[in-house]
Amino acid sequence: MNNPFPYSLDNKRYLTWNYYSQRKYGRKIYKVPLDGPFTCPNRDGTVSFGGCLYCAGGSNAFPALSDRDLVRQYRQRLPIFQNKWPDGLPLAYFQSYSNTNAPLERLREIYQPFIEAGDIYGLVIATRTDCLDEEKIAYLSSLTAVKPVWLELGLQSVHDQTLREMNRGHDYRSFLDCLDLLKDTDINVSVHLINGWMSESEEMMLETARQVGRLPIQAVKFHMLHVCRSTPLGERYLREPFPLLSKEQYTRLVARQLTLLRSDIIIERLTGDGLREELLAPEWTLKKVSVINDIDKIMAGEDWWQGKFYEE
Ligand code: SF4
Repeated sequence: MNNPFPYSLDNKRYLTWNYYSQRKYGRKIYKVPLDGPFTCPNRDGTVSFGGCLYCAGGSNAFPALSDRDLVRQYRQRLPIFQNKWPDGLPLAYFQSYSNTNAPLERLREIYQPFIEAGDIYGLVIATRTDCLDEEKIAYLSSLTAVKPVWLELGLQSVHDQTLREMNRGHDYRSFLDCLDLLKDTDINVSVHLINGWMSESEEMMLETARQVGRLPIQAVKFHMLHVCRSTPLGERYLREPFPLLSKEQYTRLVARQLTLLRSDIIIERLTGDGLREELLAPEWTLKKVSVINDIDKIMAGEDWWQGKFYEE
């Protein structure tokens, strides 16, 4: 069957990071993940001590390559990615915890060397909206005159009841207020969503996609809820296992969510990959390629594509 989705180079019926890279830069752009000196206000007591119930701590992808000097850490890790994509363009990816959770002066010290390095093509900064204010946004916006800046914002769900149950420590309104500050800047925004929270119905997850799909953002990352061993959610699961989405339920749900998003939103992820040794459930999330293939098959079989049922 022909692929009617216009923003595709292959059989994908959604706008992939690869498509974006090729169209904008003519080659692969990749992220070099960094483990910076930040904490998270939802763990350090500013908002809460407990953190989000599912959070296994900041994600440090390469603990053995973790020089405290962040530029040196970047140089340690870069060859791993250069070997994989010799012609690609690297972005410095501040991934662990909340990477704007510090005074502005400290942010300047941390980010300036990455702005000055001519061989780094942009910054990707993962954070929470309550770690951004007008001054920090003005600073990050000024950096976009030199190179692209992405903010990866955790939202997870548009439903406040879910955010409370997750112990996110913020509501949807405050997320929207921050987006309002960002919408007239050149900062690119990517939003992180979690599917499969136990008390959410399928309709609630579709509603999250429907609403997020209309926001002034550039990208989305979908994740299935991971239940990890060393988290409050994991402890609860070990005491009394609760039902989680099956692979079939998840893949069909994500395929439907894609149809509700604006067609120019980049889909950075369709499923997450947690640490095998930490993961309690669901095990099928370890088969990432198979999950993505199933979503592709459903979309082709149903003749769905990203934005097919989008409504402004
Ligand atoms: S905001 Fe992020 S780092 Fe902080 S507790 Fe939640 S998931 Fe963990």
